[in-house]
Amino acid sequence: MRVIFLGPPGAGKGTQAKRAQSAFGIPQLSTGDLLRAAVKEGTALGKQAQGFMNAGKLVPDDLVVALLAERLRQADCRSGFILDGFPRTAGQADALERELKKHGAPIDAVINFAVDAERLVERLVGRRICPNGHGEYHLSFHPPKSPGQCDVCGAALVHRPDDHEDQIRTRMEAYARDTRPLIEFYGKRGVLHTVQADGEIDAVTGEVKAALEAAR
Ligand code: AMP
Repeated sequence: MRVIFLGPPGAGKGTQAKRAQSAFGIPQLSTGDLLRAAVKEGTALGKQAQGFMNAGKLVPDDLVVALLAERLRQADCRSGFILDGFPRTAGQADALERELKKHGAPIDAVINFAVDAERLVERLVGRRICPNGHGEYHLSFHPPKSPGQCDVCGAALVHRPDDHEDQIRTRMEAYARDTRPLIEFYGKRGVLHTVQADGEIDAVTGEVKAALEAAR
């Protein structure tokens, strides 16, 4: 099953993609995670992408498309995947269609995460992340047991540079301008399922699962 999770920053796509990955046995491909890994490793791509990311701007299409195309060629993507944070522009959506055509494997479902915009800023400003991949916390909604420390490994939690208010506004503008039009794009292809993503995490998981089961 080949699936896209579409929605604004902070809508919970990453959290739900991790859950769907376990439930359906297909990998979560997050371009944000791939880019952050490239920045951490100091690769040429990471160096080119870092400035855009820290400012909350989209990384240019050619860089992200090349990164994703390479990831799609890996063996674990053969039985399907969940795209989390890609495509984010019409150019990326076109490039993805061309790439998937080569494999004769179109997208089966696009899950559109609908969330009230005011909630998003609140969710992102308070978000803190374990640098060792043990997940996300929130200062108010899901605080760690010891302030500033991961419950699992004790590492100091990270406040992403793009999870500050100015950068969040820039990311929201990029979403409204470049990404939101994709709702119509995939609606016309008959693969769009919209879930209300404002509620409790478990309730949203239920809706996402139902939409994916229906698409399967
Ligand atoms: P995310 O973790 O999905 O919120 O992505 C973090 C940042 O990585 C974004 O604000 C962009 O700077 C960059 N990024 C991730 N995915 C894409 C994409 N598909 N196109 C352009 N930039 C992206």
